[in-house]
Amino acid sequence: MSSPLPRIAIVIPCYNEEEALPITSARILSLLDRMAADGLVALDSFIMCSNDGSRDGTWQVIEQLHSDDTRIKGISLAHNRGHQYALLAGLMAVRDMCDAAISIDADLQDDPEAIVRMVEEFRLGKEIVYGVRSSRATDTWFKRSTAHAFYSLQHHMGLDTVYDHADYRLLSARALDLLSEYGESNLFLRGIIPQLGLDTAIVTYERHERVAGESKYPLAKMLSFSVDGITSFSSKPIRIIFVVGLILLIIDIAVAIWVFASYFSHSTISGWTSLIISIWFLGSLTLMAIGIVGEYVGKIYTEVKHRPRYAIRDRLL
Ligand code: UDP
Ligand code: MG
Repeated sequence: MSSPLPRIAIVIPCYNEEEALPITSARILSLLDRMAADGLVALDSFIMCSNDGSRDGTWQVIEQLHSDDTRIKGISLAHNRGHQYALLAGLMAVRDMCDAAISIDADLQDDPEAIVRMVEEFRLGKEIVYGVRSSRATDTWFKRSTAHAFYSLQHHMGLDTVYDHADYRLLSARALDLLSEYGESNLFLRGIIPQLGLDTAIVTYERHERVAGESKYPLAKMLSFSVDGITSFSSKPIRIIFVVGLILLIIDIAVAIWVFASYFSHSTISGWTSLIISIWFLGSLTLMAIGIVGEYVGKIYTEVKHRPRYAIRDRLL
């Protein structure tokens, strides 16, 4: 006997996506129709739009789409909390409504055709299926190189992330249940998912140009995202600062011995240059160390408050 067809939820975080959403949802609905006709997914598979406090007409667009076809559902966050939180809110909203959820951006940069292969892997028993970019040809040179630096830095800091995988992935209902146990306020899903300890698979896909609208990830947001990625999972930066301090102390002792020796041998030291260099060097190092520790203290501060991570204002189910 064949098992019943899985009900799949496609979760789309949306921030100011009024232009892209109608195109994206139509494309995904027709894909779901095709997959249902091919006997791959249940007929009542659906889309969950998670509106991240958009300032444009995104929510009105979602309401319209929902009234045209109730397979398009939505939740609306009261504030703009950022991609990760909008995504989590969407995933948690569909947790009891589906057998697996697939998260995808609203701009069709991630090729929806990969969904077919993700579901096939899921039906073979995989609980997590990562979408991995086969090329970054459509990204700018700058985005490509910063992304590369970001992944390698994470790996050096001991973070277990999948290379060239963003947040395009399938999570089984079981993975969603496990994910719901992670209550951290500083959310970095790419770091958490590999920790769930479930069977995984990888599906590659072409990354395309954004279908409409513009990127919501300017450089400053990308940088803060990468810092979060590291400091939420690793305390290596603090240790590195400690080791650097230790090495400097050893050098300092060596220099002190040398200074004493030259004092007794009555050779004069023209000290100004070395003095000024070491003052600046140690000063900036100290400030940097305080900054890194401060980053962790700030994280602890937001974690201990145990505030809800988002507030849902509206639901269309
Ligand atoms: N997004 C969001 N909240 C934000 C910023 C972005 O929900 O504060 C969504 C956005 O609507 C899109 C996804 O996150 O669906 C990825 O954003 P974008 O495509 O702008 O990023 P890029 O692909 O340029 O890195
Ligand atoms: Mg994009």
